[in-house]
Amino acid sequence: MRRKILISVIVTVLFALIIITASFVLLSNFQNIREAKDELKNINLIISKFDDINKEGLNDIKVKDIPVRFTFIDKNGNVLYDTEVDNLDNHSDRKEIKDVLENEEGSAVRYSQTLNTDLIYSAKKLNDDIIVRSSIPVNMIEVFQKENYKYYLAIIIVVMIITMVLSLNLIKMIIDPVKKLENVTGKMVNGDHRIRVKINSNDELGILGKNFNDIADQLQIKINEVVEKQTRIESILRSMESGVIAVDNNDIVIAINPYSEKVFGIKKNIIGEPLVDYITDYDINKFLTEEEMDKEIKILYPIERNLKIKKANIINGIEKIGKVITIQDITDLKKLELMRTQFVANVSHELKTPLTSIKGFAETLRYVQDEETRGKFLDIIDKESERLSRLINDILVLANIESNVAFQRDEFLPGVVIEDVINMVKKIAYNKGIVLEYNDDNQELIVGDADRFFQLVLNLVENSVKYSEKNSYVKIISYSKNGYYYLEVSDNGIGIPSEDLPRIFERFYRVDKSRKKGGTGLGLAIVKHIVKTFNGDIIVESELGKGTKFIVKIKYI
Ligand code: ADP
Repeated sequence: MRRKILISVIVTVLFALIIITASFVLLSNFQNIREAKDELKNINLIISKFDDINKEGLNDIKVKDIPVRFTFIDKNGNVLYDTEVDNLDNHSDRKEIKDVLENEEGSAVRYSQTLNTDLIYSAKKLNDDIIVRSSIPVNMIEVFQKENYKYYLAIIIVVMIITMVLSLNLIKMIIDPVKKLENVTGKMVNGDHRIRVKINSNDELGILGKNFNDIADQLQIKINEVVEKQTRIESILRSMESGVIAVDNNDIVIAINPYSEKVFGIKKNIIGEPLVDYITDYDINKFLTEEEMDKEIKILYPIERNLKIKKANIINGIEKIGKVITIQDITDLKKLELMRTQFVANVSHELKTPLTSIKGFAETLRYVQDEETRGKFLDIIDKESERLSRLINDILVLANIESNVAFQRDEFLPGVVIEDVINMVKKIAYNKGIVLEYNDDNQELIVGDADRFFQLVLNLVENSVKYSEKNSYVKIISYSKNGYYYLEVSDNGIGIPSEDLPRIFERFYRVDKSRKKGGTGLGLAIVKHIVKTFNGDIIVESELGKGTKFIVKIKYI
């Protein structure tokens, strides 16, 4: 750019110089030749006034300091005398002589073969027989003398140097802001959108810089908007508890959220890659190509899961540009469904056993006459109906808790409720020879349904009494620590085998049905649910033959 401008300026200046100089030289030469002609004409006139001409004296006559050549010619063109050359040929064909013969006077500027140079001629009739012709060489009067070339060259060099200095200055003035713009645009291309141009002039470049900054500002606002939208969409996708995958028409991934990556065990960024390379499940790949828009699928990798998959077309205006697939993990839902059916089956089964027993003994009773046997049968019927009633009661309590019916939000001191439980259980414990120890260090109130808390403590304490042999102890400790209220119910009873520990909170789960303690298997399931309604947690520690400890942890107010 800089070189181009410099060359154009120099060429323009050089061209202008040549044109101006040429015109000046041409005009000056024209002027000089005319003046020389006039002077030669005057000299001819003066000579014509003399009768006798001193040939020696002619050598001293000069025009513009140039000695004049004189030629005397007769009317037939014969050269009578020439101040510079002897024996000249006939001159009747010379233009100036022809003019004189016609008009008394003549002039010409032409090449002289005699002197091998251009001459200015002026001729005049002296009398009827003789013509005087005066001449001087053209090159002697031309402005552009050979010996002056060096001065002209020097002037041109000086002018060119000045031109270059001024041009460089001008170029700097133009190029510097352009360079700044180029620099800034380059940085913007590389991602620095905050950079702006600093051009303070009020000329076109200043306006260009200002417009550029305005465009950059607008661009920045638009980029910010787009980035913000993008971030919002990304954070929504990231925090979604469902999977979202978008693919183009060739099933190349254009977006995928972390939930989908987790579900399908994808550990790298697969945007821009074919989805089928990373989800190899046959059912899913089939679903992608078939018409069906939603389906329940079971996958085995990375872990077994039940998924509900839906797909929808992504339409851009009128054109379909891909598909969006949403994935919902319904494994828990399926489990729950299974649990419900199992629960119904379990309930039916659990109710059926005492009922069958009651029915059987009642029918047989008709035919039993023996008082003692009748008494035994009636005892069994009584025990079984008791069990039936307990079962129904526990099922109702559980159903009530599970149905999420709004429960009381009492603020109460747990110790008060625990004391009620102890009062209720102490007789059975006493009968079994079990010592009930109670230690209460807690002063904090907890929030929740106090009746349910009563049920919770009762189930735990009853279990401890139930699953402990004679002459053992049941310890109840109540305390608070680091914002939490703790209730510990421990015993040195029969304990729970470690393989059963994870399942004891399940409904109808009994460790060993042969324990024959008459339990329903629902007590701990109820406890677990009640703890949940208090936003608390329960853990169990137990060793077979040594004892069991339940720890309930609830945040206090
Ligand atoms: P159940 O009505 O049979 O007592 P639970 O749900 O209350 O049902 O308890 C589940 C199982 O956990 C019981 O069958 C019992 O074997 C075991 N269990 C509960 N508490 C204790 C305990 N304190 N000591 C030993 N085993 C216990």
